[in-house]
Amino acid sequence: MKKLMLAAVFAAAGLTAAADKLFLKDGRTYEGKIVEEGDAGVKIKTSKATLTFPKDQIDKIERGTSMMETLEGKLEELSPEAPETYVATAEWCVKEKVGDEPTVERLANIAMALDPSFCGRGNTVLGDFAAARGDRVQAAEFYFRAFLADWKNPVAKRKLQEYKDALEERNARQMDKLRDALTLAIDNKLAEAIPALSAARGAPFANLISTYMPSYRSVDALIEDIKARVPCKTCNNKGTIKCFQCDGTGSLKCTACGGKGYKEIRLGGTGEVRKEICPVCNKSGKVRCPRCKEIKGATKCSTCKGIIPAKPTVTWDRNGLVNFRGAIEQRMSGVLPIEEQVGPKLPRLGSQNYDASFVDDGRVVYSKGRWLTQSEKK
Ligand SMILES: [Zn+2]
Ligand SMILES: [Zn+2]
Ligand SMILES: [Zn+2]
Repeated sequence: MKKLMLAAVFAAAGLTAAADKLFLKDGRTYEGKIVEEGDAGVKIKTSKATLTFPKDQIDKIERGTSMMETLEGKLEELSPEAPETYVATAEWCVKEKVGDEPTVERLANIAMALDPSFCGRGNTVLGDFAAARGDRVQAAEFYFRAFLADWKNPVAKRKLQEYKDALEERNARQMDKLRDALTLAIDNKLAEAIPALSAARGAPFANLISTYMPSYRSVDALIEDIKARVPCKTCNNKGTIKCFQCDGTGSLKCTACGGKGYKEIRLGGTGEVRKEICPVCNKSGKVRCPRCKEIKGATKCSTCKGIIPAKPTVTWDRNGLVNFRGAIEQRMSGVLPIEEQVGPKLPRLGSQNYDASFVDDGRVVYSKGRWLTQSEKK
């Protein structure tokens, strides 16, 4: 994914404020702080005066750190009691071209986590951000989510329409993947089908699986079922493999006594030798292998992480798979239109875009250059 920072990361606290620069087409330049920027023109406050220039006279604007300070101030004022402020700040960032991708994403995600009714607006602003950096497919995906979350919203609908081609390309690619993955399963190439299905589980119509194969609620359920049919290559579903350090015996030779179990002590002068029991291994000559402490002689299989899948509970439904693939192919070939199917007939997805790794419950605030949970702030 193309990542273009719209502006430098603002977290650099103590940064000396560099001025904004305004370049006019006639060659004049002004330094100061851009205080207003709109359709009417740009207002810049210099050390001497505040000047306004119409848009058509302006060649370019170079942002100093003043906008970063403004953003910083806005972030400091955010409060989980007012979810709207998060999404509004994300919108401001995109409009003013301030802030980086993690910040915009985080702001939108927090708003959506706090209040799912912002899923339309949150996904729209993420789409706008992706569109601003020229990523049409990503933009289309976000507009699509916005539309699903809030399909009566005319803005979301219009933006989705604008990026319809990009969306259709993405849909077609994903459905291709799903069809190929299903073909692997149909051809009984189960081990290959698992990663292929995992990559295609978000494809449009993937949820049709329950219509054609009622035993599975989702593609994920099919993946689980296939996993149960394919034994782990490394451990053959034992969950463990032989410990290589002790070769499966669970013990190692005692190094204190060289495995003899006793020590020979030569008594001075007489040449007499006395044997003393080795205190480390207590005459056994062996010590417990440290690598396989938990399971004697074996360690957890690193391929399957020791997770043994449950036995398959349903009978393998090859016909169901063929019919499901057929349904996907019909839509790919245009027998059934994609557009109609991905529209309002789908259930509302709510906060499906909420990224749990980003924000726990959305109750996250910004303070002194850092994002904090509310309890951290206290
Ligand atoms: Zn394994
Ligand atoms: Zn061992
Ligand atoms: Zn010993």
